Amino acid sequence: MAPAPGHDGPTRGHAAALDAADPLAPLRDRFSDQEDRLCYLDGNSLGRLPRATVERLARVVSDEWGRDLIRSWSHWVDLPRQAGDRLATGVLGASEGSTLVADSTTVNLFKLVSAAVDARPGRRLLVTDEGNFPTDRYVLEGIAAARDLELRLIPTDPIAGPDLDALDDVLGGPRGGRSGDDVAVVSLSHVDYRSAAVTDVVAVNEAASRVGALVVWDLSHAAGAVEVDLEERGCELAVGCTYKYLCGGPGAPAFLYVAPHLHRELRQPIWGWFGQQDQFAMGPAYDPVAGIERFAVGTPSILGLAAADEGIRLAAEAGPAALAAKSRTLTELVVAFYDAHLAALGFTLGSPRDAARRGGHVSLGHVAAWPICQALVDRGVVPDFRGPDLVRLGPAPLSTSAVELWDGLDRLRDLVASGDHDGYDPSPGRVT
Ligand SMILES: *Cc1c(COP(=O)(O)O)cnc(C)c1O
Repeated sequence: MAPAPGHDGPTRGHAAALDAADPLAPLRDRFSDQEDRLCYLDGNSLGRLPRATVERLARVVSDEWGRDLIRSWSHWVDLPRQAGDRLATGVLGASEGSTLVADSTTVNLFKLVSAAVDARPGRRLLVTDEGNFPTDRYVLEGIAAARDLELRLIPTDPIAGPDLDALDDVLGGPRGGRSGDDVAVVSLSHVDYRSAAVTDVVAVNEAASRVGALVVWDLSHAAGAVEVDLEERGCELAVGCTYKYLCGGPGAPAFLYVAPHLHRELRQPIWGWFGQQDQFAMGPAYDPVAGIERFAVGTPSILGLAAADEGIRLAAEAGPAALAAKSRTLTELVVAFYDAHLAALGFTLGSPRDAARRGGHVSLGHVAAWPICQALVDRGVVPDFRGPDLVRLGPAPLSTSAVELWDGLDRLRDLVASGDHDGYDPSPGRVT
């Protein structure tokens, strides 16, 4: 066991002891060569590259594409479902046949929310929180506009996340209100992309199901960092990215989950041929298959899918409990370091202090967050900036060691103590 950090904060030795006790430590070597001493703390935006992905893509490109050409479709066609099964059973706590890897998170959200709205005819309300990820809010806004429905935004606490009392009010919960029967869909993130606040999934599922509303979860910042347990928690619909903690690569296809009891009831809005019964019969009218493939649309991106499949394999090998435990160890290290050194340098804790309520990243507020992030990159530390004032640190449980994280925090402390970030451009660029 690593010694608990004292009031001087965690030392590098403390971090090394955490690494020595880390059952996932061997998996770090399964990632591609890492630039000397780079502290990569942006695993929640783009996960590191697994070595197996390099080999898999080389094989897919030269053999499956280059040599076998069209003949490869005989197995490529099963890949969205195979990768989905691996993800469902290995990471999400769901059964085979419930999950598909396809399209982007944005497109999948559109598909599932639209399908859910159609399954609740006559109901006029969609609900999300004002702090939800932008694309999620925009997709819901667009669906509401196209169908003449109303989008209700409940408040989001900058640290604690969506206000579930306000959600209860909309759902006509114990505090009264009569709108519950009018709610078609609630869509929330499991882990808030800014604060990492974890929303109480079971409470939301139960409150929504009492009034017959469907819930669509976005697991983008959750899958691979916290335990998701879709079936045990009664989740019916979910989407999420594979390029964050699941290390699927830039723009890798996302996933969607639909509880099997809803497959027949739900019909998604994009009637593509990959959802069709007997697809190659090229029949006259759309007649979707009964299973999860009815949520497929068109020809899958095989290169992206092959890369996603390798990242999912690694996450499944580690397992969700070990990933969550490691993630918690790493974020606790950040909070302990913050208490000992960073609070005094003008930082504030922008994430829940209670580890049980916190996902896989920690946000630190600072008025000079943008110049600090720029200066850190020049010092071999890659953080993430979330405007206007957050330095977001996302250590990836698959690939970040405690020592790597500690070194990054130490350089952050030295930087801000020296004031060297003052020389950097104060205004953010296009991609932050
Ligand atoms: C990262 C993320 C997305 C990204 O959606 P794309 O379609 O891949 O651009 C969507 N929602 C949430 C909550 C995210 O964290």
